[in-house]
This record gives sequence, structure tokens and C-alpha cells, in this order.
Amino acid sequence: MLAIHAVPAFKDNYIWVLEDGANAVAVDPGDDEPVRKFLERTGLRLAAVLATHHHADHVGGLPALAQRWKCPTFGPAHEVAARLDRRLAEGDRITVPGLGIELGTLDIPGHTAGHIALYGDGMVFCGDTLFTCGCGRLFEGTPPQMVESLAKLARLPRDTRVYCGHEYTLANIRFAEAVEPGNRALAQRKARDAARRDRGEPTVPSTIAEELATNPFLRCEEPEVVASAESHAGRRLKDRVEVFAEIRAWKNNF
Ligand SMILES: [Zn+2]
Repeated sequence: MLAIHAVPAFKDNYIWVLEDGANAVAVDPGDDEPVRKFLERTGLRLAAVLATHHHADHVGGLPALAQRWKCPTFGPAHEVAARLDRRLAEGDRITVPGLGIELGTLDIPGHTAGHIALYGDGMVFCGDTLFTCGCGRLFEGTPPQMVESLAKLARLPRDTRVYCGHEYTLANIRFAEAVEPGNRALAQRKARDAARRDRGEPTVPSTIAEELATNPFLRCEEPEVVASAESHAGRRLKDRVEVFAEIRAWKNNF
């Protein structure tokens, strides 16, 4: 039986550790120390490291973990990240060492140029592309790329659990409310997730269904989102890419 743990790192990163009671796999270890401590405490053996994109807060701990555990590392084909044994791009499938589960790969550029998502077994690891109730900043990509990447993720089965790289949910919900104040699912989500944070629990994972219902960046064709974006822009916006670009720029200064 697979268990998934949120191992906190830095201020608000999550390193996801999958384990079956004997073997563990770390996703996006920006720092090796929290993973090392987790493994010491649990007595698990690290069997692989997976990475979604090249930012240091996602791969900074990868070399030390790979060295210590002599385990294989998997990451994006189209980015320069140190010490990757296997480079993955859209359509590639892997059997995760130690755990035996199968994961597929999606290319999801936008936050970074070669960002990938790994999905399967009812989960998706999407790094800094789709966030719970938000999306990543466009450091290396364009709005059309990000809209397409988010659409790919949104097409995963609706009960897919969304494991993103940061705990940003409550701040994201505050922005989503500004964009779509009439969304009742958003109000319900806010109450539930605020209670989780009060208890010191992660609000991640969510599900694709929940993101479709509440995440403004997946709702760029909803009339209220379009109206808010046009009001903020002070002009008509011609399609969902323009709506997306407007609310992404709005959020940057929110
Ligand atoms: Zn990043």
C-alpha cells in the first residue's frame, strides 16, 4: 500500500515522499536534509528521486540524495538539471524503482521551458505549474504555453490528486475570490482549507475536479472570470489566452 508524505522544506515547499513501508521515492527535493531526516526516522530506503523542473528549490537536494543512496534520478529532458540519469519528455513512461508503480510524462512548459508533470496511479506531480487554486509564474514561458499546459493537466481524470510544489492555497484563494466573488465552491473550499491550516495540516493535494471548480486559471472561459479580467484590463479580451494573461499579470501585483 502506497503512502504519500508531505515533507516540508524551506518556507513553503513540499517534497513529496512516496513509500510502501520499505522503499521511498522523493519528488522535487529542493533540500536533502529534510528527506534524510525523514528516512532516518522511518527506516526507509531511498530508491529513486524524481524532479519536475530545474529550479533549485526543487532539485537542490537531488545530487546529495542520489550520491548517498546510489539511486537513479529522473527529470525533465529539456532542462539542464545536474545529475539526472533518465531524462523524460511527453509520452515517456517509467516504472518507479522500488515502488513498481507506472508514471507517465506530460510536457507542461510555462513556469519553466522544460517543466514536466508525472502522473499515474490517481496522482499527478505538477511542480510549480498547476497550484492548488492557482498557477505558477511565467518565468520562461508564454501565456499560450501555460494555457495549453494547464489544459493538459485539466484533462486528467477528475479524481486525480494534485500534488504541487508549494503551500500557497490560502493566498491563492484570496485572489480567486477577487476574480470570481460569486463562486460558491470557492467559499466552501476557503472554509475547509483555512481549517486545515489552523490544524497545521497541508491543503495539498487537491483534485482535478476541485481545481476545475475553483481555480480561476482553469476557468478563463467562465463569464464571471472573463468579466473580472476585462474590468481589470479596461478593455475587451478576445479569447481565453488573453483572459489568462490578464489575471496572471493581475495576480503578480495582487
Ligand atoms: Zn519553480
